[in-house]
Amino acid sequence: MSTPTSRVLLIYTGGTIGMGKNPETGALEPLDFRHLIQRMPEIAAIPAAIDVHQFPRPVDSSDMNPQLWAHIVEIIVGHYDSYDGFVILHGTDTMAFTAAALSFMLENLTKPVILTGSQLPVNQLRTDGRENLITSIEIAAAKHVDGRPRVPEVCIYFSGKLLRGNRSTKINSEGFNAFDSFNFPHLADAGIHIRYHDELILRPDFERPMTPHYAMDTNIIVFTLFPGIQEAAVRHLFSAPGLRAIVMRTYGSGNAPQLPWLEQALAEAHRQGIVVVNVTQCTEGPVEMARYGGGFLLKNAGVVSGYDGTVECAIAKLMHLLTHSTDADFIRQQMNRSLCGEITVREGE
Ligand code: ASP
Repeated sequence: MSTPTSRVLLIYTGGTIGMGKNPETGALEPLDFRHLIQRMPEIAAIPAAIDVHQFPRPVDSSDMNPQLWAHIVEIIVGHYDSYDGFVILHGTDTMAFTAAALSFMLENLTKPVILTGSQLPVNQLRTDGRENLITSIEIAAAKHVDGRPRVPEVCIYFSGKLLRGNRSTKINSEGFNAFDSFNFPHLADAGIHIRYHDELILRPDFERPMTPHYAMDTNIIVFTLFPGIQEAAVRHLFSAPGLRAIVMRTYGSGNAPQLPWLEQALAEAHRQGIVVVNVTQCTEGPVEMARYGGGFLLKNAGVVSGYDGTVECAIAKLMHLLTHSTDADFIRQQMNRSLCGEITVREGE
């Protein structure tokens, strides 16, 4: 239940939710979000004190980047003690990347950080933005009877579902049901009531402070296997200057073609201290490298399992870890651990 004492900060970064049609061109452009919500009577009815902080120049989330993630972290840190929860309004296109990144950048988070947005602007008749915004605020304000926040983690709320941020993926470019977390159950489902699945929600150490991290190392590439992939193209990719990590999108349960040159290229990358992470192209189910010969080959070449994590999360986790150490083995070890609920670790992987 939210209490009248809860204070929530809305951080408007941009995205469709706060856009309106330019009357001349018909294209969607960012509007002043403070003015928009002042004209929403529902907001005043929420039993929480709400303030708005907006990016000076709201961005389409295609333009989101690690510097802007660090800016969001700065805003949260600057207001951490004054608010009970945070709602980040964000474009849907890269929302899952931002959610994953923030989950690592806000270590031992003890307050809710709920990302939301919409497929239609909030001032349009059939908008999904109102419900997404209002329920996100309620979730950010919700507390247990002992006064502790109900959801002290980074989440995405969209279309009735509260999802762990670093488990989420955008699944639909048009429908209102735009996000899901295929390998992790919903943290809450909102219908007539908001039904929280408390047993799934992270429990941070409330005695310890939240530790912010601002740096992200972007010397990473993602490459997707496909039948017929060429040696020259892969070797070119692997020799990119400064490259420190590769997210390899494999088949099924983490398989690759049994090509000697691929095995060799991966083993060379491993020797050079490049971390290679195996993330399946499937939307659901984990990587199990020991299951087939094609996965075993990767394991032998030093490739690390991505378990049941998303590609967005593997990228964000690597960017975060690479700033902490130059020791590739340390990074590999950390990729084999769940830092904030992002993977389900299976023995033998
Ligand atoms: N292109 C927009 C963005 O991601 C789409 C949206 O907000 O849904 O910023």
